[in-house]
Order: sequence, then C-alpha cells, then structure tokens
Amino acid sequence: MLVILSISYLIVLFAIAYWGEHQARKGKSLVYNPYVFSLSLTVYCTAWTYYGSVGRAAQSGVDFLTIYIGPSLALPLWWIIMRKIIRICKTRNITSIADFISYRYGKSSVLGVLVTVLSLLGIIPYIALQLKAVSVSFNVLAAESGPVFFLNLDQSYLFEDSAFYVMLVMALFTILFGTRSIEASERHDGIVTAIAFESIVKLLAFLAIGIFVSYELFDGIQDIFAQARARPELSPLFQLSPQGGMSSWFFMSLSSILAFMFLPRQFQVTVVENVDPRQLNKAIWVFPLYLFLINFFVIPIAMAGRLVFEGVQVDADLYVLTLPLREGNLGLAILAYLGGVSAATSMIIVSTTALSVMLSNNLIMPALVSIPLIKRRYTNRLGQFLIYIRRICILLVLHLSYTFEKTIAQDTALVSIGLISFVAISQFAPSMVGGIYWKRANRMGAQVGLILGFLVWFYCLVFPTLINAGYFTKDWMEEGLLGLSLLRPFALFGLDSLDAISHALFWSLLFNTSSLVGLSLLFPTRGTEANQAEVFVNIEQYSSTYEGNLYGNIKVRIPDIESLLKDFLGPQRGYEVMQKFKEFHGEDWLKKPGIDVNLMSYAEKILSGAIGVAASKIVLASIAKEEEGVQIEEVYRIVKESQQLIQLNQQLREKSDALERSSVQLQDLNERLQASDNQKNEFISTITHEMRTPLTSIRAFSEILYDNDEELDTREKQQFLKTIIKETNRMERLINQVLDLEKFESGTMRLDIQNTDLHELVKESLAAVYQLMQDKAIRVDTFYEPNLPEVPLDRDRVLQVLINLLSNAIKFSPKDSGIIRVQTLNMGDYVQISVWDNGKGISPELKEIIFEKFFQAKNQNIRKPKGSGLGLAISKKIIQYHRGKIWVDSQPSEYSCFYIELPLNQVGYN
Ligand code: ADP
Repeated sequence: MLVILSISYLIVLFAIAYWGEHQARKGKSLVYNPYVFSLSLTVYCTAWTYYGSVGRAAQSGVDFLTIYIGPSLALPLWWIIMRKIIRICKTRNITSIADFISYRYGKSSVLGVLVTVLSLLGIIPYIALQLKAVSVSFNVLAAESGPVFFLNLDQSYLFEDSAFYVMLVMALFTILFGTRSIEASERHDGIVTAIAFESIVKLLAFLAIGIFVSYELFDGIQDIFAQARARPELSPLFQLSPQGGMSSWFFMSLSSILAFMFLPRQFQVTVVENVDPRQLNKAIWVFPLYLFLINFFVIPIAMAGRLVFEGVQVDADLYVLTLPLREGNLGLAILAYLGGVSAATSMIIVSTTALSVMLSNNLIMPALVSIPLIKRRYTNRLGQFLIYIRRICILLVLHLSYTFEKTIAQDTALVSIGLISFVAISQFAPSMVGGIYWKRANRMGAQVGLILGFLVWFYCLVFPTLINAGYFTKDWMEEGLLGLSLLRPFALFGLDSLDAISHALFWSLLFNTSSLVGLSLLFPTRGTEANQAEVFVNIEQYSSTYEGNLYGNIKVRIPDIESLLKDFLGPQRGYEVMQKFKEFHGEDWLKKPGIDVNLMSYAEKILSGAIGVAASKIVLASIAKEEEGVQIEEVYRIVKESQQLIQLNQQLREKSDALERSSVQLQDLNERLQASDNQKNEFISTITHEMRTPLTSIRAFSEILYDNDEELDTREKQQFLKTIIKETNRMERLINQVLDLEKFESGTMRLDIQNTDLHELVKESLAAVYQLMQDKAIRVDTFYEPNLPEVPLDRDRVLQVLINLLSNAIKFSPKDSGIIRVQTLNMGDYVQISVWDNGKGISPELKEIIFEKFFQAKNQNIRKPKGSGLGLAISKKIIQYHRGKIWVDSQPSEYSCFYIELPLNQVGYN
C-alpha cells in the first residue's frame, strides 16, 4: 500500500508539473504569481528541515533555529543582493553560479570548472542525504506497518532498495521537466509549479503532526513544556547554550544566509526561474512566514518525542514518523511520510537541474566541442546534442548521490551533512559579493580564494568524515596531519574553542576572503575582465530600463540594427548595407518583429570588419538582449579603447605634419620678413632718391637766383621761382604721401565718413585734372548711374583716389587721341566706379604689384619721370579702409580700366 501511495503521490506530482507547463504554454504561467515564486523559494526546507530539525532540537534545543533565523534576518540583504544578481543574470543570459563567477572574472573557464566541481562536491552529499531520508522513512513505515520483506533493506538487493527507485523516478522527472529545451535560460514552469505544490504539502503535513502531537498526545504546547521542565535531563533544551557558545550561533546563521543566497538550488529558483525581480518584494515576508510556520512545532515535537520515548532507543530524526505510528495513527504517519518525500524530492529535482546545467555547460560541453569529430557531426544539431548531454549529467549527478548515500552517508547524521554542504557553498560568497560590489576584485583573487577556501573546508570537515568512515587513521584527528598539532582538523592553528562547523567556516572564509582582497589589490585587472567588473558592479547604469520589459519576449528591433550599423559605419554605408540585405531577402523580413538571425549574423559580419570580432559580438549582443541597447556605453568604451590607439597614432602624425608645416611657414615668414626688410631699404632709397631730384633743382635754381641777381631779367626770375615752387610742391606731396602711407600701415588713420553724393565727387575730381586733360587733348566720357543713393565715405580720401586714377589715366594716354571713360554703377550692396583709358595698358603679371608701394622702384625700365609709385598703394589702403575693393583690368596697348567698389552700407564702421 505504501508503494502504491508513493507512486500515486509521484504521479500527482508529474501531473501538476505537466499542468504547470501546459498553463505556461497557454500563456497563463503560474510562475508570474509572486506566491508561487515565494513558495518555490522554500525548496530551502529539505528533508533535513523536515526530519533533521526535530532531531537536532531533541538533542540541543533551540539552536537548530539558527538555520532559519539566519535567512529571515538577512532577507533585506538578500533582497538587495539578489535583485542585482538577477539583473546581471537576465542581461547576460547567465544560468548558474558557475557561469556567473566565471563571466565576472574575465570569462575564466578555470573558474567555471572550479565552481562546478566544488558545487558537485558540496551538493552531492546533500542530495544523498535526501535519498537517505526518503529511504529511511520508507523503511520505518514499511517495517511498522506490515510486509516483512522491506525490513533491513540496507543489506538487500539494489532492486529492493527504495532509495534506488526514488533516484530513478527523480531522474525521470528531472529529465522530463528539466531538459525540455536547450535554453538553460528558459524557465521550467513545470518544475516550479511542482515545487510550489510540494512546499504546501510539506508545510501542511508538518503542521498536522505538530497539532496532533501537541493536542492529541498532550494537552497543548504548555503541557509539553511543563512536563519537560520536570525532567532534569531535558532542562538543557530550554537554554540558549549551543556547543561552542554564542559564536556558534553567529557562524551558523552566517553560513545559512550564504547558503540561502548561493546554494545552486536557491540560485535556480531565485534567479534563473525568476520572471520579475519585483516578486522579491512579496517573498521578503512570505518566506519568513513560511519558515516560522514550519518551525513552530519543532520544539514541541522534539520534547514530546523525548518524553514519549524515554528510555527507548528511537532516532530523534524520525520522531515525526514514529510519534503518530506509536499512537497507531497510520494515516497521519503516511501524511508525515509524504511531507518528507515532498521536501526531499523538491530539493533533489531543483538541485539536480542546477547541477546538470553547470556540469554540462562548464565541464562536459567545452571538452566535447573541442573534439573535431563531434564538432563536425553535430554542428547544426548542437542543441539536440546538448539535451542528451544534460540528461546524462542528470543521471550522473543522481547516480553519484546514490553511491554516496550507499557508502559514506550510512553512518553520518542528517544534520551534519547539510551543514558541511552549507560551509562548502559559503565559499562562493566572497567572489560573488565581491564581484558585484567591488570593481577591483579580479580573477587571481577569486581563483586562489576559492581554492584555499575549499581546501580548508575539505580538510576541516570532509577529511574528518572520511576518517570516521575509516578511510584514514584516527590519529590524525587527535594529533593533526603528519603529527603537527597546529593542523588538527577541528582545531586549526590552535583554534579549539569553536564547534567543527563554525571552526571550518571561520578559517575557510578567512582564507578565501583575504586571498580575494589581497591578490586583487596586488595584481592588476586585465582588459575584458575590467569591462565585466564595470558592468557587474554598475549594472544599474547598464540596464536601467530593463526591469519592466525584459522578461518574456526579448526582441531585436530591425531599426536598432539599422541604427547600429549607421552608428558604426556611417549613415551612407549603413543604409547601403541594409539595402543590400533587403534586396537579397525580399521585403518580407522587414515585417518580422523579433530576432532575425540572418540579419544578425550579416550585421555581425559587416561590423566585425569595422570594429573587430569581439566588439561587434558585444555590440549585437547588447541590442539582442536589451531592447534599449543598454550596453552601448560599454561597447563605445571598448571601441574607443582601440580607436584611442589609432587616434593617438593619427595625432602623432598630425603633430609631425604640423611641425613640418610650421617649419615651412617659418621659412616662408623668414623670407617675407627678409623681403619686407628689402622693401624698407628700397623704400628709403626710393624716398631719398625721389627727394633728391626736386631738391637738386630747387637748390640749383635758388643758387642761380642768388648768384646772378643782376643779370637775370624779371621774366627769367619768375620762371625760376615758378620751378622752385613746383618742385617744393612735389616734395611736399611726396612727404604727405609717405606720411599717409605710414598712417595707413600703422592703423592710426581715421576716416571721416559722411554720406556723399558720389557724382559730385567724380565731377570735382574731373575738374581737378581738367587742365591736364586739356593739355593732352583727351576726351572724357562719363556714364552716371541714375538715382544713385548717397555713399558713406571719407570725401577727401576718395577724392584723392579718384584724382590719382584720373591722373594715371591721363599720364598713360596717347596725346590727342586719348579717351577716358568714367562710369558709376549701383550693384545693390555697393557702388562700382570705373576709370577706363585707351593708354598703353598693364601687362597681366603687373596687375597685382602696381598696388604695392614704390612699384616703380622695382621696375626701373618702365619708370616715368612723373609720379612717386605711391599713388596706387595709398589708393588701395583708402579703399580697403572703406571695406571696399580696388583692382585693374587691362589689355596691354589697348586699354586699362581701374575698378573701385564701395559698400553702400558702412554699418559698424568706427
Ligand atoms: P605713380 O604715381 O608713379 O603713377 P601709381 O602708384 O599711381 O604711381 O602707379 C604705379 C604704376 O602703375 C605706374 O607707374 C604705372 O606703371 C602703372 N599704371 C598706373 N595707372 C596706369 C594706367 N592707367 N595705364 C597704364 N599703367 C598704369
């Protein structure tokens, strides 16, 4: 009947799991219910809780509570840490602790292997413990209730061993509901639903026993306590005096907090199966409430057991079963048994799922994929292949657990295996917590810390167990390894005031944490690892918007890819690339909402060419996993790092170019300086030369006048004086011109701008040169723009320019046939004045240099006796001061035409 009942229960479990999956497929997943999530967390309460708490309480009173007080007190901390871990895992597609730690520390495969092996070492005995609990409880019940052939099963054949069947059924369950798809990240709705169901069964069963014991066997809890207090041998149970003192409470609580966070099964339900971190908000009070309820009757049952079985040899771990059995309440005993089965199976299922993922992803697959034959055969079917591997891993984990149960676990109490496991799992804490809160934590520190922590754990806890089992000599317990008393497993380095578990936890965490901190400070963190560290520690910045929308459907939007391509390739090339893809695949792909694998790999290929393979992978992964392209910051940094090198190179090249350029400029400047120095010399020589000519004639005529006053007649005297005056004027003009030029060049010239009638000014200039034109019989044509507005200008200066242009025109025009045309034009913003003559013209190469001062000095051959060579230079300055332009157009021996442009608007002129 017990067999049938057990099978029926498991069938119900399968049905519930199947229903859970079915609901999920219909889109009504129960996992979204925060209560289901909270209940799944109670996979923490295993058969160890179920049977072992009572056992422990019966021996040492309330200190069993540490294992539950720890997590309850630490829930706020758990909430903070787990939210962060969930964020990281969801954005990175991380599905196990091993992945997490290896990813964080530079994707170190060594760390992945290490964590996997350590998890297996820590958890397999724990699973064995569950198997043992089920098989023992089965045997107790079977022995009490009838068929004799189930008795003494320890010596029986394999096929008669209940633990073996439990293992087989668990394997079937886990394979069915745990390896439905290759995506380890895909949640297991069936499993979670079944776990939630089982957590209700175990709670109700335990409460039923508690109520039965307290109110059927006794007159309530007070009655049990009153009776127990009367017995002197039970009085220690009322005192808070755990072995090893209060420090033991502290260490037990600590290890249970850490286990609650980092046990693979807890990680599985809290992180991997989680659909929304907000569910943590509900769990934070549902979970402790559950712990409170399931522990409420532990002490009463334990004391009742001690009272009822006084003097009888009964395993305290089994009071939950034996108390109802003793009273002949078979129904309740069976309910208690099913509660135990629930506790055990839920733990086995989740732990096995988690371990098999770790094992296949971190140990088996990497090894297999590196074998070329397998790679070739399974390239396109890697997914299917992975499922097989994972199933084999499930069988392997369960088989190892079963073997452990049959060998080493036989003579170890339930509680100690659980605690040993807790200490093992605690070793993940430094690298996990350090990894998400301390950027400097690095691979060297994490690796050495984990290894040392586990060596200490092994030496202080596993080694003694092996000694107990008879594998090593017992002397080492008393005298220490190799006779060194400092190396006694329970009193390492002379520390003997703690109980074995606290002792091991203390030393292992000390070694672990100090290695992590010390070596991380000592060794630098390398490139990619630093990037991961940055992202893990500051995950909020990298996934600020993910919480609401990440779950369920992760999508890449095609515009994202497009804009990414445009970002990295430039808009034109990005557009072309998309266009090409569209031509190739037709328009249909545009309508697809989700990931287009083709487009992704196409984009990756194109991007790889631009920014390198690693960076392009990250770039695409970022938009694939997070709708907002959150990691873009990180990507830019990576790209920038490589671009910085290129940039540096470029800058260097630019600098050397600039240096070259500036040396050329310097040379140029030097040449110009020299040229202007020469110019100045020429200028001075020209001026003195120009001055000497009139001075010579003035002096000559003055001397003649002075010496020959008597001989000269009045008409001659008049003639001489006239020449002297003319030459003096010439000198004065020259000196004025030089002074003007100096004023213009030093910038001290000030214009007196007034709105002026330009035509009046032109007429005035013509009047000034009237006599000269008459002398050469030159014809003047004027073309005046009608309605020309007044022009803002310095009247005297512009007049000077016009006179200069006209006298040049006269000077170079032929006698008798000369024509001069003066024209004004309104060009809108400015007015143009041109002076045209049919003189000898100006050759093209001279068109610029005639505006330089003393142009004649350099062109002695075309020098004319009249003129200083300063006129045009000054004219140009004057026009430039008006913000205008002056230039010449000419056809040699046909005509010359000088143009002036003056702006009609002199706004802002000072
Ligand atoms: P200058 O006072 O000697 O005329 P300018 O600066 O006014 O000095 O003119 C410089 C030179 O430009 C003249 O020497 C002459 O060679 C040339 N030049 C100026 N105007 C004309 C023109 N209308 N036709 C031909 N050559 C001209």
